[in-house]
Amino acid sequence: MAPSVLPASSPLLTSEANEKYANVKWEELGFSLIPTDYMHVSKCKQGESFSEGEIVPYGDISISPCAGILNYGQGLFEGLKAYRTENDQIRLFRPDQNALRLQTGADRLCMTSPSADQFVQAVKKTVLANKKWVPPPGKGALYIRPLLIGTGAVLGIASAPEYTFLIYVSPVGNYHTASSGLNLVVDHMYRRAHTGGTGGVKSCTNYSPVVKSLREAKSSGFSDILFLDAATGRNIEEVSTCNIFIAKGNIVSTPPTSGTILPGITRKSICELARDIGYQVQERDVSVEELLEAEEVFCTGTAMVVKAVDTVTFHNKKIKYRTGEEALSTKLHLMLTNIQMGVDEDKKGWMVEINGCVE
Ligand SMILES: *Cc1c(COP(=O)(O)O)cnc(C)c1O
Repeated sequence: MAPSVLPASSPLLTSEANEKYANVKWEELGFSLIPTDYMHVSKCKQGESFSEGEIVPYGDISISPCAGILNYGQGLFEGLKAYRTENDQIRLFRPDQNALRLQTGADRLCMTSPSADQFVQAVKKTVLANKKWVPPPGKGALYIRPLLIGTGAVLGIASAPEYTFLIYVSPVGNYHTASSGLNLVVDHMYRRAHTGGTGGVKSCTNYSPVVKSLREAKSSGFSDILFLDAATGRNIEEVSTCNIFIAKGNIVSTPPTSGTILPGITRKSICELARDIGYQVQERDVSVEELLEAEEVFCTGTAMVVKAVDTVTFHNKKIKYRTGEEALSTKLHLMLTNIQMGVDEDKKGWMVEINGCVE
């Protein structure tokens, strides 16, 4: 396993820092944590409002052993990216959507959450404080990880009396160029989410149970797991941290986000872009049979943006799909990254510029 925190002598760091950039080997960025200079922290008592918060040096936090997050997993996370454009602007992709999703999750887990405006302002401030760590254009992005956790002490099961909203960041590379298409395996043993559960929110509790499936899949040479619905085991739901689409002819389909599937912001954006270029987009149940007969399959998520699925393995069947230059996923990936990188005009108002514009 890769270390979660790179030591100071990390091969990804060089001694060449300057005013504009931190001492990162930008060409070699992957998706592991590179600690940066600052993080955001704000706190709030249950039912009260969050204070503006502070930017503090990045480092360990002190927490009660009896904290809600440690004992009962009362916590949510978010994930978004800041991009540096060719003319040196730093921009966020739809941060308001992450703010709203955090609020939905907080409601489900009985947590007090920051307002959408506080969320976006805090993200902007954290990125500006760590501006040197935003990779040069084309080399990757600054991954932003907001956390909302119950830090107050609770012994009996209840919502915590205090919440902490924390944001840390790490430069990450372009997932897309790093590897070829995904090789997924359908999980016949484990289910990710259940009707009435928390699959539809980014609750911390949804992710550690996935590790076992993921580890088994990786040890058999697959890149990720494709989960089926728990109720019938007949329909596809999503991959461990990304949404899934199938394409056949002019129709692009993706399972509906009605409780067991995480409503991805990339998913929503890709639905819109596919419609813009004339595809019929259907959000509906997608059976395994349909998956096996699709021409193309792809995944969406903040880390990978859009990623082609090369193969899906179901029992002993391994199906191969269209990938490469001709694939719809390649086209959609380019459309979305061109908007994010400022290559194409942002006609949808998705990008939020942050150079110096923090209140
Ligand atoms: C975060 C996440 C996604 C992708 O959401 P984006 O907003 O597109 O990054 C999809 N599925 C799961 C389970 C996730 O946790």
